[in-house]
Amino acid sequence: MRTTDSRTGMLTSRFEETFGATPDGVWQAPGRVNLIGEHTDYNEGFVLPFAIDKTAKVALRLRSDSTVRLLSTFGGHGLVQDDLAGLEPGSGRGWSRYPLGVAWALKERGVQVPGFDLLLDSDVPLGAGLSSSHAIECAVITALNELTGAGLAAEELVLATQRAENAFVGAPTGIMDQSASLRGAKGRAVFLDCRDQHVDLVPFDAEASGLVLLVIDTKVSHSHADGGYASRRASCELGAKTLGVKALRDVGVADLVEAATLLDDTTLRRVRHVVTENDRVLQTVDVLARQGPAHIGRLLDASHASMRDDFEISCAELDLAVETARASGAIGARMTGGGFGGSAIALTPVAQEQQVRDAVVHAFAQAAFTAPDIFTVTPAAGARRLA
Ligand code: ADP
Ligand code: MG
Repeated sequence: MRTTDSRTGMLTSRFEETFGATPDGVWQAPGRVNLIGEHTDYNEGFVLPFAIDKTAKVALRLRSDSTVRLLSTFGGHGLVQDDLAGLEPGSGRGWSRYPLGVAWALKERGVQVPGFDLLLDSDVPLGAGLSSSHAIECAVITALNELTGAGLAAEELVLATQRAENAFVGAPTGIMDQSASLRGAKGRAVFLDCRDQHVDLVPFDAEASGLVLLVIDTKVSHSHADGGYASRRASCELGAKTLGVKALRDVGVADLVEAATLLDDTTLRRVRHVVTENDRVLQTVDVLARQGPAHIGRLLDASHASMRDDFEISCAELDLAVETARASGAIGARMTGGGFGGSAIALTPVAQEQQVRDAVVHAFAQAAFTAPDIFTVTPAAGARRLA
């Protein structure tokens, strides 16, 4: 065992109590916040997420048979047991689908994955749009990639976790979340081209500009497996097909005039969101490099308006969070993640942080919405071994 902090030490001793042996190691992978670039990933476009300082940690030990035993420190989950031999898409229940899906996807790639015992401890909020599911998958795949000696590159791990979510869990998600979790770095946002997985790590140091990035978890639960996400993907595919391009990535802002003559109203609005959002990601990267975080507020605001009006994936709670944050001092705010609930982000001067928090809590109470959870995030390291 290498370095241990107290949480790692607790995880190791809890693992030993549960499974009666020392883990082979402890790995962690972060959740992510998407700064900008929503629903552009599966359109082969650009995204700008970052790995956050909230992580899933797994203590894991390979076994000599094909049994998998899984336990989460998260309340209400008992020990789950399964067998890798009989695994097929759709098997497993609850959170066990994430580690099982990863093992299945690695096996599909020809990696010999034996059974394993695993203890999970995560402080990434569930279903808040911060990708707690990918934090689990990325921690597990990083561990298995190392312990099996598979040595797959980050780009391949990204595709394997996507395969796990798409084919095994049945959630039609893209490659953004796991790219941020696997490839993120401290103080950097991950500027990802989803067409070829090219990554540029872009400095994003809000703190140095006197800003904090607040996450406002609306507590409205979302699920990627639900119809809204799939129907938006279908609209994007229809748009690309009608416009005769491989993906909406290939449509520029200037092409929207002609697109308006070819697409029905709903499809046009869906397409317009993706096309303008791609452009906003490029602008954000440019503004961050030339002027710094204090100047990206208008792009965050425009992104939210586009998701609310054109892509129609916001909800009353997200809109209220964004509007209230802005009205009480945030320099820019938008919903983040897949939509239909989850979290909003608000880039806020440190001096206004408390004011924004208080105003949002007050506005939610006035509207008789469930009290939101509000916290700050900073760009942190991507998936790695801890011990
Ligand atoms: P998101 O990834 O945006 O948080 P998802 O619906 O994709 O939302 O994933 C949430 C699911 O991940 C939960 O329903 C649960 O199955 C699983 N999960 C996340 N964190 C934990 C945890 N600490 N323990 C057990 N399961 C977890
Ligand atoms: Mg998820």
